[in-house]
Amino acid sequence: MRIQISTSIKLAANQGKRKSVRVGDHLIGGEKIIVIAGPCSVESREQIMEAARRVKESGAAMLRGGAFKSRTLPYSFQGLGIEGLRMLALARDETGLPIVTEVVSPETVGIVEEYADILQVGARNMQNFPLLKKIGKIKKPVLLKRGFSSTIEEWLSSAEYVLAEGNDDVILCERGIRTFHDLTRFTLDLTSVPIIKEVSSLPVLVDPSHGTGIRSLVSPMAKAAVAAGADGLLIEVHPRPEEAKSDGDQSLRPEEFQELMEGIKPVALAIGRNM
Ligand code: PEP
Ligand code: MN
Repeated sequence: MRIQISTSIKLAANQGKRKSVRVGDHLIGGEKIIVIAGPCSVESREQIMEAARRVKESGAAMLRGGAFKSRTLPYSFQGLGIEGLRMLALARDETGLPIVTEVVSPETVGIVEEYADILQVGARNMQNFPLLKKIGKIKKPVLLKRGFSSTIEEWLSSAEYVLAEGNDDVILCERGIRTFHDLTRFTLDLTSVPIIKEVSSLPVLVDPSHGTGIRSLVSPMAKAAVAAGADGLLIEVHPRPEEAKSDGDQSLRPEEFQELMEGIKPVALAIGRNM
């Protein structure tokens, strides 16, 4: 039995041929597993520089870090904004790593586009339709996270918004959904990976950091994600997670990230992918 999705989803549906997204020398959705790593938030020049150097040493392809944050509470750290984007650019200049950073509003698409190599749409913004329409008009790739209460059809419908505006470079990212699990932050829905591969041609990444919320679970779920067919991973890494302004409990230390990279290699090779 083939899995059926609504026939109204057209551009985000399976086109018969896999789509891949090129970013610099990297191809997301090719044979190689692409790992994007870095802190939840950009906190200072020193912090992002150190994170960038360490994740690069371990083989990350790109650097992540939020400058504009989408936080549940207004009292939580909201990010350094444009200052944070400048720090990310300095880290890219030094390490050569392309930058993945979040855009939270239609008004800031222009400024984030100036700095970012990939614009991330966060889970809480997956159905921010004015935002989706705006990033559909730009020329940079978009990393579209799954809303944590969204179905796969809703997620693909959001991708359709971006594609329908003319931006072909959409990368999906599974980051966990709400279930009755009580010991983890979210439930990482790895079933969505082979489902996406069946019903869509878009590349899909997995974020086991937000998907579990717990440092010790990140590496096992990263291996499982690669085994399930993910095209890459989004991993939170902080030089000193205990000092992190956001998501410290789920952030790996640089040496733990190094172990994760070594751990996923044999899994990638076992399923005919490489690193
Ligand atoms: C993040 O990547 O730091 C983030 C806020 O993710 P999400 O939107 O998936 O919660
Ligand atoms: Mn985070």
